[in-house]
Amino acid sequence: VPVEAIRNFSIVAHVDHGKSTLADRLLELTGAIKANSGKQVLDNLQVERERGITVKAQTASLFHSYRGKRYLLNLIDTPGHVDFSAEVHRSLAPCQGVVLLVDANDGVQAQTVANYYLAREKNLVIIPVINKVDLKNANPEKVKEQLQILLDTDEVDVIKISAKLGTGVDQVLDAVVERIPPPTVARDQPFRALIFDSWYDKHKGAISLIYVKDGSLSVGKQISSAHMKKSYEVRNIFLLRPHAENVKTIFAGQVGAVSCNMKSKEAHIGDTLHLRNQSVEPLEGFKPPKPMVFSGVYPMDQSQFVSLQAAIDKLALNDSAVNATLESSAALGRGWRIGFLGLLHMEVFIQRLEQEYGAQPIVTAPAVTYKAKILGSKNITKYQGDTVIFNNPVHFPDPQIVSEFYEPMIIATIITPDTYVREIMSLCREKRGVEKLTKTIGGDRLMLQYVMPLNEVILDFHDCLKSMSSGYASFDYEDYDYEPADIVKLNVLLNGKLVEELCTIVHRSKASETGKKLCVKLHETIPRQLFEIAIQAAVGAKVLARETLKPYKKDVTAKLYGGDVTRRKKLLAQQAEGKKKMKMIGKISLPRDTFINILKR
Ligand code: GDP
Ligand code: MG
Repeated sequence: VPVEAIRNFSIVAHVDHGKSTLADRLLELTGAIKANSGKQVLDNLQVERERGITVKAQTASLFHSYRGKRYLLNLIDTPGHVDFSAEVHRSLAPCQGVVLLVDANDGVQAQTVANYYLAREKNLVIIPVINKVDLKNANPEKVKEQLQILLDTDEVDVIKISAKLGTGVDQVLDAVVERIPPPTVARDQPFRALIFDSWYDKHKGAISLIYVKDGSLSVGKQISSAHMKKSYEVRNIFLLRPHAENVKTIFAGQVGAVSCNMKSKEAHIGDTLHLRNQSVEPLEGFKPPKPMVFSGVYPMDQSQFVSLQAAIDKLALNDSAVNATLESSAALGRGWRIGFLGLLHMEVFIQRLEQEYGAQPIVTAPAVTYKAKILGSKNITKYQGDTVIFNNPVHFPDPQIVSEFYEPMIIATIITPDTYVREIMSLCREKRGVEKLTKTIGGDRLMLQYVMPLNEVILDFHDCLKSMSSGYASFDYEDYDYEPADIVKLNVLLNGKLVEELCTIVHRSKASETGKKLCVKLHETIPRQLFEIAIQAAVGAKVLARETLKPYKKDVTAKLYGGDVTRRKKLLAQQAEGKKKMKMIGKISLPRDTFINILKR
């Protein structure tokens, strides 16, 4: 395929606006897959199907005939959730344009805005497309007006489609050919390619998804990367159509997957591949995604340490945003501190560990990265510099030697129908947010921006926002530096003994309320045991809340005297099952999910 006939593009949209549906339609229309051959071909991970979100960017190469000429369209599907903006960033690297998809009913949403700015920042051609025009309440004219405001132009050339029914989808293909320029590449230059995704395959090992910027690459060649000074032999090259199709050579402008004898750890996203013995200027890589939320992840039993390590390594290759370091805890043994982009990212990662690797890890409550400036640090040998950085409550420094604590802030963008604005503003204030901007963006839509502590949004902000607006408000965020904060460590004691793994860091103004909630939740979560358990929350020596868990009578079935044998058996089985998932903390056994559940509503 000549370079002039190549188009590299992504579909970007707010979650649920129909990216996956449109991608499937494009695949069908170009004959890459048969119609109705299965739902949402590009969302191929189990977790994604369950949650209906695209976690991992997937790519497909399609052929489209336009005015008698054959074009190669490389479509890169992107994830649509706030937590995964780093992946969106990455998938845009090979693209010269994007299809900005907006739901005709929902209109412009927070991620529509975020994606638009991202595309503009990268100088990409933007094709605005309004989807779901078949819906009864669809209001494409109103959405067009919102797009005019967003794109800051009176003449938006929007395409109206129904991805579900297939109406107008051919116009999207034509617009991709007409409006998006071919990639600027040089086929006569030495081979140079960007790794923009990589994953682990059971049979082929590490696979790198590459965008060939210059030259070409063939099977059997020796390659190196700018990052890793090793050399590798190219074993397979395949195009994703979307099912792997082997080719011998891949040319500049194309997107394809390469397997070679590269180790998982060596396939760095953002790295540049070149031929061995042929030095090239590295392509502009990526800013590595920054983990914002940290949790401890531990095996249920130390005998599972090695297998859990292997599973985490493999998943981490699939997910460059994950960052794991070893740590150990008194009660839980050896494990890892893992950094995630956000709470959903963390949940998806843990769920994949469970589903794809059969792991049953214990996960501790998430925390953000705090900083503490140490008083007269010269005299304090325990701390190296003037500032201590920590994301684990265990490392909370003694407040007596800290002159100031700092917490990470974000700038949140919320888009909502005006009816919910009062409630949302009060939620933001409750979360210690400071208003930055409120503006109308067309129709009854308002855009709000708040500077808020990240700590306040990681747990349930998104859920609160969704429920108070019946799902209509949307949210996106960017990080926004550190600000001084009066934070304390909230200690949890079981029968007078401090359980580090249950402690969290909170703002002083919230310590009491959080302490009470925590105790109530623990009281609900911990099963009754043979002895009484005092559950306490404290800051320093000051106890803020207490619950008492009464001991239980041993036989859970005792009250079911006589009668129902099956019910009795079932109860005993449940009890046995329950035991398996318990973790002993001293003499007290806690269910596996206690550590993460106590902070949720
Ligand atoms: P994504 O999150 O952007 O990938 O969105 P999906 O493609 O998964 O679509 C979200 C939901 O919208 C699914 O239930 C789709 O069936 C539905 N949907 C997508 N396109 C259309 C459309 O054109 N019309 C209607 N009525 N529903 C659609
Ligand atoms: Mg999707």
